[in-house]
Amino acid sequence: MLYLRKSLKILVAAGFLLWIADGYLLMLSESPRSAPDPAANPTASIGPGGGARYSGAIHIHSTYSDGGGSVEDIIRAGQNAGPDFLVLTDHDTMQPLIDGHQGYHDGLLLLVGEEVNTSAGHLLSLGVGRDVSQDGPLGLPAVVEEISESGGVSIAAHPTGRRPWTDWTLEEMDGLEVLNGNSEWRDDGVLELLRAFVFLPFMPDGVFNSLIDRPDEAIRLWMHRAQRQPVTVIGSLDAHERIKLWGERHLSFPTYERMFGLIRTYVITGTELTGDAGVDEVILLNAIHRGSCYVVLEGYEPAPSFSFELSMGPETESMGASVEYQDGGRLHVTAPSSGPVRIRLYRDGVPLIETRGHELFVEVPGPGVYHTEVYQLRSTLLRGERQRLWIISNAIRLE
Ligand SMILES: [Zn+2]
Ligand SMILES: [Zn+2]
Repeated sequence: MLYLRKSLKILVAAGFLLWIADGYLLMLSESPRSAPDPAANPTASIGPGGGARYSGAIHIHSTYSDGGGSVEDIIRAGQNAGPDFLVLTDHDTMQPLIDGHQGYHDGLLLLVGEEVNTSAGHLLSLGVGRDVSQDGPLGLPAVVEEISESGGVSIAAHPTGRRPWTDWTLEEMDGLEVLNGNSEWRDDGVLELLRAFVFLPFMPDGVFNSLIDRPDEAIRLWMHRAQRQPVTVIGSLDAHERIKLWGERHLSFPTYERMFGLIRTYVITGTELTGDAGVDEVILLNAIHRGSCYVVLEGYEPAPSFSFELSMGPETESMGASVEYQDGGRLHVTAPSSGPVRIRLYRDGVPLIETRGHELFVEVPGPGVYHTEVYQLRSTLLRGERQRLWIISNAIRLE
């Protein structure tokens, strides 16, 4: 009996040690890489017609609604984390705009949008310049129409989250959050969350990266809608820096700075930003509106040189384009990285072809909605090579 109990103890201890070792190696393999020197990647294209690209942290809450930090705190975190622009989206208020917060703050552009509560879920309203709401008799279609008519962009927030988006019939809605930093960890298992909790104080970078997985359901919703019309996808944070505990108590976690370094949307614009916030808001939102952007898990590695293009004869089209199918078109993906990656090309949401390497060329086999995903290949001693989602492109449509 004593012998049995002793063996059981040894078995439990060994299992625990193995779990710790596996977790440690896993978090180590999830740690950040720095981007390669762009000069070392002459194949990296900057996009058709020159253009420029800017990385943004989108969907942020401040103390104007249920966020934990002031706009000043958010700007400071943004300056430390290093994106080119931030998009504040407090719940049902445009007061930060009225109070004069939109603009450049030491080179960092802060745009003020709004997260509108509607009968179908939460909707990001960007670039409208005023508060919109679903109070009128015309209901939700009128909200989306108002955003569109004001030259704004409407994006379904956390479409598969705890408060999912439920109405996909609204033709004028521009896009959806394919990734939402606040929803991502919720689908992880108990053991995965326990492991994250144990390693968080020691290896926070690896832990945050480890919690983000491919958003299968959001991609499925995107592709379903994209069969009918162009749809923009963005990567969002839903950053609050606030977890409610009890009563008035809350935890200032995860920090804005952490979130701004975790998920970014890179926007490829036709022209360079001017330094005038009003003009630059239009430039950035126009590019997002037409889908000229891509989602990056910045926590793994920045991706300033990624490109996904279609060449047909002398013409080159980039993400967001909708063109008529012709024979002889070629799709070209480049994903410079300082480590090994796998590029996978999808047609109508179904994997078409993939390669281990930083570049993929393929002849277009026919009409379809094409998008690409890039995975970082990360190995551990106990688990071998794992594919971790790094980039989701917007689509190129061939009709
Ligand atoms: Zn929301
Ligand atoms: Zn939100």
